[in-house]
Amino acid sequence: MSAKLVIFTDVDATLLDHKTYSFQAAKPALKRLKKLGIPVILTTSKTGTETEVISKKLRLNHPFIVENGGAVFIPEEYFPPSYFKTLGLHPIKKNGYQIIQLGLPYKMLRKVFKLIKEKTPARLVGFGDLEAEQIAILTGLEKREAVLASRREFDEPFLVEDSLAIQMVEAKKIKPVKATARIASLDQGQKSQALFRRGERLIKEEKWKPAKNLREIIKRLQKEAKKFGLKITEGGRFYHLTGDNDKGKAVCLLLKLYRLRFGSVVSLGLGDSANDWPMLKVVDYPVLVARPDGSYLELTRRQKNIYQTREPGPRGWAEALEYFLSRPKILDTRAGVSAEKISQENAGRKRRKK
Ligand SMILES: [Mg+2]
Repeated sequence: MSAKLVIFTDVDATLLDHKTYSFQAAKPALKRLKKLGIPVILTTSKTGTETEVISKKLRLNHPFIVENGGAVFIPEEYFPPSYFKTLGLHPIKKNGYQIIQLGLPYKMLRKVFKLIKEKTPARLVGFGDLEAEQIAILTGLEKREAVLASRREFDEPFLVEDSLAIQMVEAKKIKPVKATARIASLDQGQKSQALFRRGERLIKEEKWKPAKNLREIIKRLQKEAKKFGLKITEGGRFYHLTGDNDKGKAVCLLLKLYRLRFGSVVSLGLGDSANDWPMLKVVDYPVLVARPDGSYLELTRRQKNIYQTREPGPRGWAEALEYFLSRPKILDTRAGVSAEKISQENAGRKRRKK
């Protein structure tokens, strides 16, 4: 029996162009997938409201994963309620969606972000420090889109050190944000509070020495975040402070639901940045989309069998889809396209490029 193919895709610089946010080049492939009834799951660091707009624009009627796996939005009646029960999930009904929360509330992330910011000699600017207008400058989004982007719930995107972006934002003057977060009111309750107090104590104990470079700063920030049980990952434009959630965990959860629905499922994942790794690691067929300058996120030797697109953004997206959909065996077995075959294809493409 054929397995059902399910596609998980990053949005920025993968399905949408990094600069123009256009998905024109991916349109024919999207149309074909729709005809074949193959679900395309947007898996992004964007907010729920932002992703909903994009999902509608792309005419997708499938679940989507937002804020780096902070939450999964499932259209109501997409899966029967018994599936949630079977998996012990308790989605919240809101605006036509069943929402499964996996991340920590934004208020807690902001509170930790401010503590880390005070501690580090490096300059940090988070979305919570910015007005929509400034977010629009940084992202190239329209102002109304930037308003949606600023409605974070489970992920704080931020910039580090004296990047050009920070200078641009500072030129517009950053309004100081009042500390209003109150950990006591969090729904995660006592566990979060205890974790927060522990982190607060640990962060006070540590003395920061000047860092040599950005990599070292990021490593230290990651260490500080860990004291609170939080994580820092790198996206296409920003670093992200989140709870223990990631794109991979959210993908696994949706795959469980799809397996209940279809029995056997084969998964394909496409992404371009470090925050896509957790997703690329858990899918059957990972695709690494080239960056706008033609480079790729660094691969370890173990990851060499990942399909690497020749073209960046939506053109690369379409290229990968054409490659996999032209292999009908992909739906029959997980070994429909072997790892060795993909390695050879990658090498072949690079040779042709030279
Ligand atoms: Mg991306």
